[in-house]
Amino acid sequence: MLEITPIPAFCDNYIWLLKNTGGRAAAVVDPGDAGPVLEALGRERLHLGAILITHHHPDHTGGIGGLKAAFPDVRVYGPAGEPVAGVGSAVEEGGEVRPPGIEACFEVLGMPGHTAGHVAYYGGGALFCGDVLFAGGCGRVFEGTMEQMAASLARIGRLPPDTLIYCAHEYTLANLGFARWVEPENRAVRQRWEQARALRNARRPTVPSRLELELETNPFLRTRVPAVIAAAEQWAGRPLEDQVAVFTALRNWKDRDYD
Ligand code: ZN
Ligand code: FE
Repeated sequence: MLEITPIPAFCDNYIWLLKNTGGRAAAVVDPGDAGPVLEALGRERLHLGAILITHHHPDHTGGIGGLKAAFPDVRVYGPAGEPVAGVGSAVEEGGEVRPPGIEACFEVLGMPGHTAGHVAYYGGGALFCGDVLFAGGCGRVFEGTMEQMAASLARIGRLPPDTLIYCAHEYTLANLGFARWVEPENRAVRQRWEQARALRNARRPTVPSRLELELETNPFLRTRVPAVIAAAEQWAGRPLEDQVAVFTALRNWKDRDYD
């Protein structure tokens, strides 16, 4: 069985550690920092065989050099369209990744929006989506267009509802605070906010989350829901013609007035 555990890094990043039960080989997703990864590997006496990178931001890539120094044979997969030092295997939409020593196969999904060449890795019912979808929210649109980000999120929304979403940051509680602005009457949002608050008070991670729950509570996946459209139109002060316009209003609303 594939075991996936979070390694906390910096103040709110998660580096995902993958291994098979009882296996000695490991892979990590988005190691922004080598230190906590080396510590986790040492503790479990694991050999790092693969690094999977979703996008070029330093909080996702900063540990590559240190990990390569410790494991010279590690394979580093990263998005073909982005400049990431240390990537040996460039991947893009339609590609496949089989981390050495681990029984798992991940499909590469092109997910532009947060950055221009952002990719996600999907396999075994798990999605490693970096900074595209977060629990209760989504990444900022830095390099791509609002159209691209909306399309990337819609694509995630069409994956099987029991898909587990392994995002790269612990932003859940703040995201759900915004979700409550958007949908004050949505009971699932309120309940989820309360659960997230209890988990964070106990210093436990709120991720991974199930896609099903995101579809019920994450405003950025709910741009077709009448209450969400109405709230976005109210903020924008005009009718919004389509789902991209609703997404754009939500993203701007959160960036300008909430964060
Ligand atoms: Zn990022
Ligand atoms: Fe990030």
